[in-house]
Amino acid sequence: MIQKPKGTKDILPSEIYRWQYIENKIKTVMENAGMKEIRVPVFENTELFSRGVGETTDVVQKEMYTFEDKGGRSITLRPEGTAGVVRSYIENGMASLATPLKLWYEMAMYRYENVQKGRLREFRQIGTEVIGTQSYLADVEVIDLGVQIFKALGIPNIKLNINSIGCPECRAKYQEALRDFIRPNLEKYCDTCKTRFDKNPMRILDCKEKKCKEMNQNAPTILDYLCDECKEHFENVQKLLKELGINYEIDSTIVRGLDYYTKTVFEFISEDDGLTVLGGGRYDGLVKEVGGQDTPAVGFAMGMERLLELFDKYNPDVAQERKMDLYVANIGDESNLYATKLVKELREEGIFVEKDICQRGIKAQFKYADKQGAKFVITIGDDEVRSGKAMIKNMETGEESEILLNCENIKEKLGQ
Ligand code: ATP
Ligand code: MG
Repeated sequence: MIQKPKGTKDILPSEIYRWQYIENKIKTVMENAGMKEIRVPVFENTELFSRGVGETTDVVQKEMYTFEDKGGRSITLRPEGTAGVVRSYIENGMASLATPLKLWYEMAMYRYENVQKGRLREFRQIGTEVIGTQSYLADVEVIDLGVQIFKALGIPNIKLNINSIGCPECRAKYQEALRDFIRPNLEKYCDTCKTRFDKNPMRILDCKEKKCKEMNQNAPTILDYLCDECKEHFENVQKLLKELGINYEIDSTIVRGLDYYTKTVFEFISEDDGLTVLGGGRYDGLVKEVGGQDTPAVGFAMGMERLLELFDKYNPDVAQERKMDLYVANIGDESNLYATKLVKELREEGIFVEKDICQRGIKAQFKYADKQGAKFVITIGDDEVRSGKAMIKNMETGEESEILLNCENIKEKLGQ
């Protein structure tokens, strides 16, 4: 038997309605804030990610699905959404649209990861990108979207951690201090960290290796190096969060896994399992890096598999699968055609109604209706075709009554 590739997941009909439930809730939260959905390609030119996400990140160094296509181009399956959205923003001249541009997306992402709990190779993210404003107000609006999503889904025990990683100016001084801190132990760091020492020492703080993490414990914090503008920005973010009653903690170790972040960064972490469900921040340098005008932006991405797991834990019965309103059983050829036409008409009226399409006997038809949880069953034979009346059975109470076989009557009986 051919099995699915490692790190992928089938989403089965038995769980899809729960996905759809949380997707709809999130969509409403996004739309209420004026976010418009965007969809970009599953694959992009590799250069977009190496430049956008950053050459020294785990994503680019270790996790990308990159291949040469038949035309000799280097192609990469998107490992994250922001770079593609920003590419699309530039390529489609979206800078001429009203500012800020508020976008959201739901897309599958591909990363060659060490597969473990909450870490897949194909996973889905819902994210948002607000492009064109450098104001702290946008940072807070985006953070609040995250707050609202967890609230709308009834997921408790979510902690918000924030940090500021400054701008290229303040970062230069900080990186020097960080190198001075790391240098004496550099030989003991992992090979990847060593390669990052010169190019991007802040990446070393995001290393997942235990020994590197331990050595990083007393590293200097960027917060001591913020320039006046970055400091003020971060203070404004915090002030407004407090005024809105949004609890947070400052975690100066957050650097995020993608190089494009500047100033505010944040993570929503489940206190149940310690996993980060949502991560984001400001990325004022990305649009220019990918070839557009210098344009500030802020956004986040949320792991849907991790989110669904928490949703299921706290709200196992909130999402309900749509139940069949009516099953039309038939006995014989004449009634089959009659039932087929009736079902067609009822479906056009928005009723969830089924009938036999296997040419099975009445007993098997009832069995199917029962198994699928049909709320009502109408049985049609030759007599019913002639009289235009039939019995309708309430499958829950067992109660039966006669009904005229027209759309209006049936709809009324079904309570619709
Ligand atoms: P980490 O440091 O944990 O690897 P990251 O910096 O790679 O995180 P992002 O790229 O910002 O994370 O992704 C945002 C969110 O997407 C994560 O918080 C998580 O919920 C989800 N996510 C990221 N990678 C995976 C994965 N391999 N499988 C499932 N969900 C993921
Ligand atoms: Mg990662």
